[in-house]
Amino acid sequence: MTGSAASATPTPDDLPYLRRCVDLAREALDAGDEPFGSLLLDGGGAVVFEDRNRVSGGDATRHPEFEIARWAADHLAPGDRARATVYTSGEHCAMCSAAHAWVGLDRIVYAASTEQLVAWHAEWGLPAAPVAPLPITAVAPGIPVAGPEPSLADEVRALHARAAGIPV
Ligand SMILES: [Zn+2]
Repeated sequence: MTGSAASATPTPDDLPYLRRCVDLAREALDAGDEPFGSLLLDGGGAVVFEDRNRVSGGDATRHPEFEIARWAADHLAPGDRARATVYTSGEHCAMCSAAHAWVGLDRIVYAASTEQLVAWHAEWGLPAAPVAPLPITAVAPGIPVAGPEPSLADEVRALHARAAGIPV
């Protein structure tokens, strides 16, 4: 059993939001950052915040999922956070999973899993990240999770390959 075995599959209604996250990831890569993008959908179905990776300035905690958690804490009442969904191109890291749970957000839907990303990086000979590659469910077991989305895997993999300087 793998860490992502508890995850559901994204639904057709999720796909446009995941599509937008992958576009934000490409935008990040084009701007010299790592290819990750995320958005926050409120309980009424409105996209209220979106962001992409911004670590190129030297602060490696500038993940979009972390920015979403902070934005939600500042702008949404606890009851509204509990009805909000986060979509993201790559599964939350341990830091972002913890932030998500601490501020009381609800479901997470991701295009590519941490397990996939770790496998791609290993395949390309890249060093391991400084943080353990835990699935969301290992850090925040109460959060409903869906992913990965198979139809976006090749595209997300290609973005990460480009980020690593690997020809695809
Ligand atoms: Zn993160």
